[in-house]
Amino acid sequence: MSLRIEERTRRSTTAAFPDVRMRRLRRTPAIRSLVRETRLSMADVIYPMFVRPGVDIEIPIRSMPGQSQWSPDRLVEELRSLADSGLTAVMLFGIPDHKDPYGSENWNAHGIVPNAIRAIKSALPDMLVISDMCFCEYTDHGHCGVINTPDHDHFNSALENGYLLNDPTLELLGRASIAHAEAGADMIAPSGMIDGMVGAIRSALDESRFDHVGIMSYAAKFASGFYGPFREAAESPPQFGDRSQYQMDPANGREALRETAIDVAEGADVVMVKPALPYLDVLRDVRAAFDLPVAAYQVSGEYAMLQAAAAQGWIDLDRCAMESLTAIKRAGADMILTYFAPDVARWTR
Ligand SMILES: [Zn+2]
Repeated sequence: MSLRIEERTRRSTTAAFPDVRMRRLRRTPAIRSLVRETRLSMADVIYPMFVRPGVDIEIPIRSMPGQSQWSPDRLVEELRSLADSGLTAVMLFGIPDHKDPYGSENWNAHGIVPNAIRAIKSALPDMLVISDMCFCEYTDHGHCGVINTPDHDHFNSALENGYLLNDPTLELLGRASIAHAEAGADMIAPSGMIDGMVGAIRSALDESRFDHVGIMSYAAKFASGFYGPFREAAESPPQFGDRSQYQMDPANGREALRETAIDVAEGADVVMVKPALPYLDVLRDVRAAFDLPVAAYQVSGEYAMLQAAAAQGWIDLDRCAMESLTAIKRAGADMILTYFAPDVARWTR
C-alpha cells in the first residue's frame, strides 16, 4: 500500500510529457488565478513617507517620481485618501529644520516626527505608524550617530576621527525612541546598524512604560548603492566617508543571519532585510531561519530604476513593479515597505 502511494507521488512529480502537461493549468485567467501561489494586496504594504516642518507643503522629490516631502497637514490629507484605498501602515522619515552634531532634533518631543505622529493619530487613529529610528537625517555630518570628534564628549583617542561611536549612540537612540513613542508611534524601526540598538531601545521603552510599542529592526541592512535617491529625499548624505563601517557588506549572506539572530535575541518583534530585490537570497534565508514576521524594504533605487526605465518607454511600469513586489513576497516577505504602496491599491483592485 505505502509502496503504491510512494510510486504515485514519484509519478506525479517526475512523470514526463505527455502524461503531464503543465500548460493545462495556464490556459485561462480563471485557472491561473486558482493556482496562483503568491498574491499581493494592500494588506502587505507599508508606505514610507517623508515629512518636514511647515504648513501646506508638498515638495516633489526629483529622483523619485511620484514621491514628495510633506508637511504634517498635507501628509495627513494624503494618508486619509490612501486609507480609503486600503493602506493600513506608514513609515515616517523626518527632515528637521535644524541639524547638529548629535541630531538632537530626533529626541525633541515637538520635533517633526513626533508632531506628524500626533497629527496622523488624531485624524486616523487606526493607521499603524512606524517611526524610522536613526540619526542620519538629524546630524549635520549625515552619519547615523555620534561621531568621534577631538573636542567633544565621548572622544576616544584610540579610534580615528569621524568614526561612528557605538555605545554613546545607543543612549541617544533610547531617548529619541521614547519621544516618538510618547507621540503615539506603534513601532520603532531602528535602521542604523548600531550594535545593541534593539536591546537599548527595548529597555528604554520598557523603563518608560512603552512595553506595548513594538520594534521593527532593520536587521540585515546592506551598504547599498541603491539608497542613492533616498539621500536626496531625506536630505541626509554623509558629509564625509560612507556607511560601510556599520552597514553590511553586500557580499555577505551568512553574516545577515548572525545579525538577525542578535536582533531577535535582543527583542525585535519584526526583522527586516534591506534592500529587497538584490537580496532575495538573504530574504529567503532569513525567512527559513526565523519564525518572526519578516519585512523587506524595496528601496529608493529599486523604485527609481523602474520609474526611469518606464519613463523611457523601455518597460511597462505597472507590470514590472508588480512583478518585483510579487518576487519579494514569494521570497518570504510578510510585509513590504514600498514607494509603490499607493499604486498597489490600483493594481490589485
Ligand atoms: Zn541612518
